[in-house]
Amino acid sequence: MKILVATEKPFAAEAVGGIKNIFAEAGFEVVLLEKYTDKAELLAAVVDVDGLIIRSDKVTAEVLDAAKQLKIVVRAGAGYDNVDLAAAKAKGVVVMNTPGQNSNAVAELALAMMIYMSRNCFTPGTGSELLGKTVGIHAYGNVGRLVGLKAKALGMNVVAYDPFITDAAVFEKDGVEKVDSVEELYAKSNFLSLHIPATEQTKKSIGYKLLTSMPKGATLVNTARKEVIDEQGLRQALEERADLKYITDIAPDMKDELAEAFGKRFFATPKKMGAETAEANINAGLAAARQIVDYIINGNTRFQVNK
Ligand code: NAD
Repeated sequence: MKILVATEKPFAAEAVGGIKNIFAEAGFEVVLLEKYTDKAELLAAVVDVDGLIIRSDKVTAEVLDAAKQLKIVVRAGAGYDNVDLAAAKAKGVVVMNTPGQNSNAVAELALAMMIYMSRNCFTPGTGSELLGKTVGIHAYGNVGRLVGLKAKALGMNVVAYDPFITDAAVFEKDGVEKVDSVEELYAKSNFLSLHIPATEQTKKSIGYKLLTSMPKGATLVNTARKEVIDEQGLRQALEERADLKYITDIAPDMKDELAEAFGKRFFATPKKMGAETAEANINAGLAAARQIVDYIINGNTRFQVNK
């Protein structure tokens, strides 16, 4: 079996070493394609591989067509909107993610972003504290839950909305208040931490109406995806409400315009960095390698996302 690790943004060296060891133990061959700049390099590299590990790399129908022997793609990370799931399914290629492996890194960044905005982007001036404020968690998955638990430790009130978690005990045992509508969530939140995936249902779903329903001085924190924001609506909300703030780990298409118009009320990380910790890198990379071995040898499809 031949496995390609294709990473425009490479894994940490320790993760690469661990991945190689896992495949060596299984008797699989590994090839690396790191820091590639041209899609043609990826198209050439996938031609004869059985398995593929990627990070934010795009696996389009064209890539899948070129990969004649491909059986499995694992996205080392949570979001898998960079893989054409339908095209993979049509070709019988299993697609998996590695849920939970980078959640702590992203959750820590979300909390850091709240503090950064509360302290005037680390410039002089009187800031405010997180203690006693309410944070709304929009989607109570792996990252959202950790943000909630850490926010509680900082003395924040935590409310959450996730229509796909119907068991109220999930929230109760964490001491988190569950709300039943997205409108109620935003209306209650001094900080709103976004953790919804980018789907047909969620794209552009956060805009003017929800943002202007937030309390005075509220901050929207986005470590999820830029696509879930209606950027025109966001711009209008920031224009009309001089107290609102937006901080994101995924630069919006209107980044320059927003930065110029709203100064310290807007911040985007220069490059997505939520999962960019050595720990998350290692966790997700090793999990991806183990999942490939477990699928090829045992047929385990537990983490398949294109069933
Ligand atoms: P997860 O799959 O564990 O949780 C996602 C949650 O979203 C689930 O609980 C699901 O029920 C909920 N959900 C789905 N559709 C919803 C909707 N319409 N309304 C409300 N809730 C909805 O994923 P996760 O690991 O918590 O990651 C969340 C998102 O964060 C990912 O989809 C990804 O886009 C993003 N992410 C970003 C980084 C980064 O580097 N900034 C890293 C990891 C993940």
